[in-house]
Amino acid sequence: MHGHRLVGNRTRWLRFRTVKCGSWHRDNVVLLGDAAHTAHYSIGSGTKLAMEDAIALDVAIREARDLPSAFADYEARRRPAVLHLQEIAHRSQLWWESFPERMHLPVAQLMLAYMTRAGKVDLARFVQNAPALGRRGLADYAGIAATAVPDSDVTEWVLDRPLTHDGITHPRRAADRDLRFAATTTVVDVDLESARGPAADAFVASLPATQTLWLTGSADRAALLVRLDLAERLCRSTDSLVVVEGAHRDVGDLAAGLASGRTHLVAVTREVPV
Ligand SMILES: Cc1cc2nc3c(=O)[nH]c(=O)nc-3n(C[C@H](O)[C@H](O)[C@H](O)COP(=O)(O)OP(=O)(O)OC[C@H]3O[C@@H](n4cnc5c(N)ncnc54)[C@H](O)[C@@H]3O)c2cc1C
Repeated sequence: MHGHRLVGNRTRWLRFRTVKCGSWHRDNVVLLGDAAHTAHYSIGSGTKLAMEDAIALDVAIREARDLPSAFADYEARRRPAVLHLQEIAHRSQLWWESFPERMHLPVAQLMLAYMTRAGKVDLARFVQNAPALGRRGLADYAGIAATAVPDSDVTEWVLDRPLTHDGITHPRRAADRDLRFAATTTVVDVDLESARGPAADAFVASLPATQTLWLTGSADRAALLVRLDLAERLCRSTDSLVVVEGAHRDVGDLAAGLASGRTHLVAVTREVPV
């Protein structure tokens, strides 16, 4: 800057590795913290997990009759919470690793995308906690003034915004069911563990060029979040109108996906998608 040289230090660029172990104990050896599991540092929770492990291990050892059952109890108590956080951390990692793809977003909308990136922070809660920024982001999404954005019930409001794509205006971002059965729509069943990586790349490459891509799949929330992340790739890499189908109980995730520019339209199903 101002003609000065950049000053380097010994900072090294890390390639993060997620550690998962089939078992956290053997004989009289037990693992906790990063030795047992890691979670991408962008969610800032590795230390918390390690401390919670230590607390759980202490309780298990005091309560159990012997070490093998103490270690088994400790692992059974901690593993579900760790797996849940690793899922969130994985989504956050993918978001950061694909960050340059979102540089075109206005700053406030980028913040919406950032806060809801991993499925941990709810869109409505974010707008409630940071109303000025949240409403600015929603205004960017809708292409209107921030003063015209409501300060409550934003989920339905997000779904009610119109969209013009490829010269066609859709009155709401919640797609009409008829669109699923249109001749120009390709319905795709997404069965992927992640929206990035070799399996996802092959899946994306196999998709036909089509006017509308309708992504359906398991009703599971984790599967819906993968569909939304995949939709974001497709919105950027294809000319198709992309629709993500999800269950009504996850309507907050669908609204966050719309407001963050992850998908063009959503389809909210009362029943479980196929
Ligand atoms: C860049 C970065 C940013 C992070 N940011 C956050 C954050 O904001 N918030 C958060 O909660 N977490 C963050 N984390 C994760 C967090 O640092 C770890 O999850 C946490 O430190 C794990 O604690 P631990 O005790 O399991 O392991 P560690 O903290 O790694 O402790 C292991 C210790 O064992 C020592 N050791 C290793 N081998 C031996 C040996 N053979 N003999 C004796 N000693 C040994 C090591 O020197 C080390 O002191 C971040 C991690 C990184 C890399």
